Amino acid sequence: TNGTTTPDLDASLLRFTPTTTPRPVPLPNSPEVASQSTCTDHMITSAWTAHAGWSAPHLQPYAPLTLSPTASVLHYSTSCFEGLKAYRGHDGRLRLFRPDRNCARMLASAARVTLPAFDPAELEKLIKALVRVEGPKWVPPARPGAFIYIRPTLIATHPALGMQPPKEALLFIIACFLPSLDDPRALPTPAPTPTPTPTKPPAATGLKLLASPPTATRAWPTGFGASKIGANYGPSLPQHSHAQSRGYDQVLWLFGPDHLVTEAGASNFFVVWRARPERGGRVEMVTAALDMGLILAGVTRGCVLELARARLGGEGVAVVERAFGMREVVEAVEEGRVVEAFAAGTAGRDLDIPVPGAGGYAARIKAWLGDIMFGRVEHEWGVVV
Ligand code: PMP
Repeated sequence: TNGTTTPDLDASLLRFTPTTTPRPVPLPNSPEVASQSTCTDHMITSAWTAHAGWSAPHLQPYAPLTLSPTASVLHYSTSCFEGLKAYRGHDGRLRLFRPDRNCARMLASAARVTLPAFDPAELEKLIKALVRVEGPKWVPPARPGAFIYIRPTLIATHPALGMQPPKEALLFIIACFLPSLDDPRALPTPAPTPTPTPTKPPAATGLKLLASPPTATRAWPTGFGASKIGANYGPSLPQHSHAQSRGYDQVLWLFGPDHLVTEAGASNFFVVWRARPERGGRVEMVTAALDMGLILAGVTRGCVLELARARLGGEGVAVVERAFGMREVVEAVEEGRVVEAFAAGTAGRDLDIPVPGAGGYAARIKAWLGDIMFGRVEHEWGVVV
């Protein structure tokens, strides 16, 4: 399936070299976890060359990589990656959530920067192999909802500065600890406040978004914003750190003269509003469409749309994918028509809620997703490892 006669990625060839120096599992609320620098004991690698295809994958001790300083990825951002979680279920089993979607998206991202093709089903098997080895130790069996974050990455290692599609690449799959924002033990313990200060309003809960200015554009039509490639993330950091330094959680990325609402940080953005009475007054759940290439087709986004259409349609909620601008959002806010707004993605709390809504649609969808992820409900999206 890689379109050549050279060997494809083949999970059945996986070799295993166990670590001789296993590391301790950090506590959920440790600084180590907060710094998002802790990986598990092992990783999987497979090297690719244009003439020999994909090498036999190797499950081996987690370790630094060796790269030539002329490696294509270091100069030309020839890299793509994925992010998905392996969850511990209420039944004690480990589940991935729609890993086929991540593997298919990784293949599409690879093509955007001329990285080699591979059979996405083989990548999925390798992810499962890593989770099987790391899960028992790194995702505590007695803690439903615990997870590790899987980061499959493909980089061009080709050691040559000339601009050209790489003839050498490396796939690696690592598993990391991310702070579990839903786990109360992962949250910082609030300092005791014996004297309440009635002059200060209580801190707003939920997600605070800072809209990007016209001088900062994350993605544009015909660009590459719809691909999960390294080139999309580095250049968004100045705006991100600006937002954080001003006390916001994420950037709300706008596009073009109509200030189209595209994404919230590295997650997709939804708003629920009541349409104007002259437009029927129905409740609409709106998110940016994929057709302009301005947003990543989030796995969570797709699930939210599917679940909302199937389960909220009967309650009169219209689920709409279309371009919408800040003007529409501001008008809806001013006219008191916004019911709620939320961000959907894998890195944070799956669904983050900037405007805790009376409708509670996001909370219900989040509960439905959780039921599948943690195995309370058997569903084809929850893939037992
Ligand atoms: N947008 C961007 C730019 C992202 O990086 C991500 C995280 N992969 C998302 C949206 C959400 O995608 P998903 O639901 O697949 O995690």
